[in-house]
Amino acid sequence: MHLKTVRIKGLVETSLIDWPGRLATVIFLPGCNLRCRYCHAKDIILGGLGDEHIPIEAVLEMLAGHEGWLDGVVISGGEPTLCRGLGRLCEEIRNRGFSVKLDTNGTRPSVVAGLINDGLIDAVSMDIKAPLDYRYLEVTQTIFGLRRIGQSIDIILNSSIEYEFRTTVAPSLLSPADVGEIARAIQGARRYVLQPFRPHACLDKSMEALPACPTNVLQDAARLAQGFVEKVVIRG
Ligand code: SF4
Repeated sequence: MHLKTVRIKGLVETSLIDWPGRLATVIFLPGCNLRCRYCHAKDIILGGLGDEHIPIEAVLEMLAGHEGWLDGVVISGGEPTLCRGLGRLCEEIRNRGFSVKLDTNGTRPSVVAGLINDGLIDAVSMDIKAPLDYRYLEVTQTIFGLRRIGQSIDIILNSSIEYEFRTTVAPSLLSPADVGEIARAIQGARRYVLQPFRPHACLDKSMEALPACPTNVLQDAARLAQGFVEKVVIRG
């Protein structure tokens, strides 16, 4: 697949928070196959391929100027695994001496497996939206084979690359006990990150009337998750 097919909808030139411990550029690829109620990336997930985008050449040129002090590139979205040129993009970035982290919702396990097996990514962050039952539909408003989430979890847990699993905790959608159930599904994982829901620019406008996730709810959720994973991190 030619690199020219890759559309980049957004870019953060330097970030210290999107790949903990690394200074990274973040690029956002368009489109997503889920519709999470709290999603803040409406323009990116609904943006068509024909919409305005940042030319890949401009991004590669910018990276060349950062050689020597930038650690890596986070490929985020939207859902980047929908991009047919993703492998080529990873290859191009790695050939220029930068590490690559993939952010994914885990719905395309074969793509994640391919990138890991081909040595095209150095790290992966996978969002897990809910326990692997009907609540996934409540959060994502999308019907799809939940088996794929389980497959992605297994692929990542059995890989040797750096990884983390992440959940956004919106009390209207998930209880601390639900977070405990998610942690059970990733039993033995090295790192599980909990992020608070924030009622800002949500895909589902009704979510904007709700309060942000209180710290004590995150702490309760972390306590319930701790028994299943090596480390729970509250971020944001
Ligand atoms: S939050 Fe959900 S809808 Fe938004 S980009 Fe991530 S997976 Fe897609």
